[in-house]
Amino acid sequence: MENVSVQDIVLATGGVLLSGDDGVMLNKIRLDSRQVETGDLFVPIIGEKVDAHKFLEQVAEKGAGAVLTSEHKEKTEEMEETSCAWIAVDDTKKALQAVGRYLRKRLTLPIVGVTGSVGKTTTREMIAAALSARFHVYKTPGNSNSQVGVPITVSEITKEDEVGVLELGMSEPGELTVIARIAKPDVAVITNIGITHIEQLGSRENIYREKLTIQDGLSDGGILILNGDDDMLCRTRGKAGVKTVYYGTGETCDYRAVDIVLMDGKTEFTAVHAGKTQKVLLNVMGTHNVMNALAAIAVCCERGMTMEEAAEGLLTFHGFKHRQQVYADGRFTVMDDSYNASPASMKAALDVFQGLTGKRHIAVLADMKELGGNYLAYHREVGEYAANSGVDLVVTLGEACRSLAEGVRAVKEIPVVEFSDCGEMVKYLETEIRDGDCVLFKGSNSMGLSAVADQFVEMA
Ligand code: ATP
Ligand code: MG
Repeated sequence: MENVSVQDIVLATGGVLLSGDDGVMLNKIRLDSRQVETGDLFVPIIGEKVDAHKFLEQVAEKGAGAVLTSEHKEKTEEMEETSCAWIAVDDTKKALQAVGRYLRKRLTLPIVGVTGSVGKTTTREMIAAALSARFHVYKTPGNSNSQVGVPITVSEITKEDEVGVLELGMSEPGELTVIARIAKPDVAVITNIGITHIEQLGSRENIYREKLTIQDGLSDGGILILNGDDDMLCRTRGKAGVKTVYYGTGETCDYRAVDIVLMDGKTEFTAVHAGKTQKVLLNVMGTHNVMNALAAIAVCCERGMTMEEAAEGLLTFHGFKHRQQVYADGRFTVMDDSYNASPASMKAALDVFQGLTGKRHIAVLADMKELGGNYLAYHREVGEYAANSGVDLVVTLGEACRSLAEGVRAVKEIPVVEFSDCGEMVKYLETEIRDGDCVLFKGSNSMGLSAVADQFVEMA
């Protein structure tokens, strides 16, 4: 945080300063007591398992500049023994969000907010890369896109930053509107409406409605950038006073991709906008990444950059670990997409995988989590898709993947080997994978395929 005092936090949260000096300047907001350093503001969140209020005294002694608390209403002797400022609030999470809103108001730079069911992080990174050709960009670190993550990202924007690119997530009803009102994006991007988090939201219609609440933070004159290839988003117009722009492969899209060429490790396409064309080279694979790159080009052009500049910036994006990285230099090729999985991203991965050159294509697929009551049907559907995508052998891990295996068998007679134990599966793969093969690893993060993929990248 820059130039934020205890008094600012009291003001922002509507809290009461129980103890300490209100003129003290604060450094960083911390939720994890172990990360607290001198001068930081510690916000104890009450979680399902742990109520972080139990760390208050510890961090105050360690030199925290201030702490929020919903546990104390009056000054205590312990408080006086430290130089830390103790600020009483009703609800620490809501207070943190109020701090986020307060700090956002003080910022003058434009903010780009990215939401959607899949591809938020990739799109955020591509937007940041493209904008970097002209601007000093702040971007959300890691996957910090939640109700507590977004206020912190806002607090970390500095004076040097000329534009902020924030990932805005949601996993439960009503969450995105809260997040959008903190981020207050000038430009909002919705990548797609899928079925991630359908368990909490009930239906794709509900997810659609939730995603559109990103507009609650959009001011008049804001820009809404939508995936024009998405069946729901293509029919959507932004609220009054907001300019709506579409990107995609369809002829009516404002930003269009044509002549897409997929290569091992790279993708090429031509971007078309307002009668102009621009060749774009991406150091990542897949048509879904063409969509993500188009979103980035749209953001750049709507903020006054040229397509040429955006394309130059996009060249600096090289993907990230466990998200569809292809290692093609060894004895066999490994495609590591083990970071997470949903039906949409499974299909996108299989499409890319199909394009890799190799003797056999072995898809190692693990359970997809958080898909709601219909999860077995979704697994089966991915199995059917895999069977139709030129895979020679399917190896599955997990209980839900039994349906995926059924889906494969229902469509084609290709070998399917099922495992419930990851160690057993690794042993099998060690003997099964041969020189010249292509192997895809994909499943939900908690299935542990990342470590398996690392092992096979090492062995290749
Ligand atoms: P999270 O909800 O975990 O934050 P996210 O929305 O940030 O996810 P990414 O991490 O960018 O999404 O990508 C998740 C997966 O989706 C990756 O496997 C990636 O290959 C795939 N993916 C990326 N972009 C798209 C897209 N536009 N359409 C479909 N799949 C995509
Ligand atoms: Mg993400």
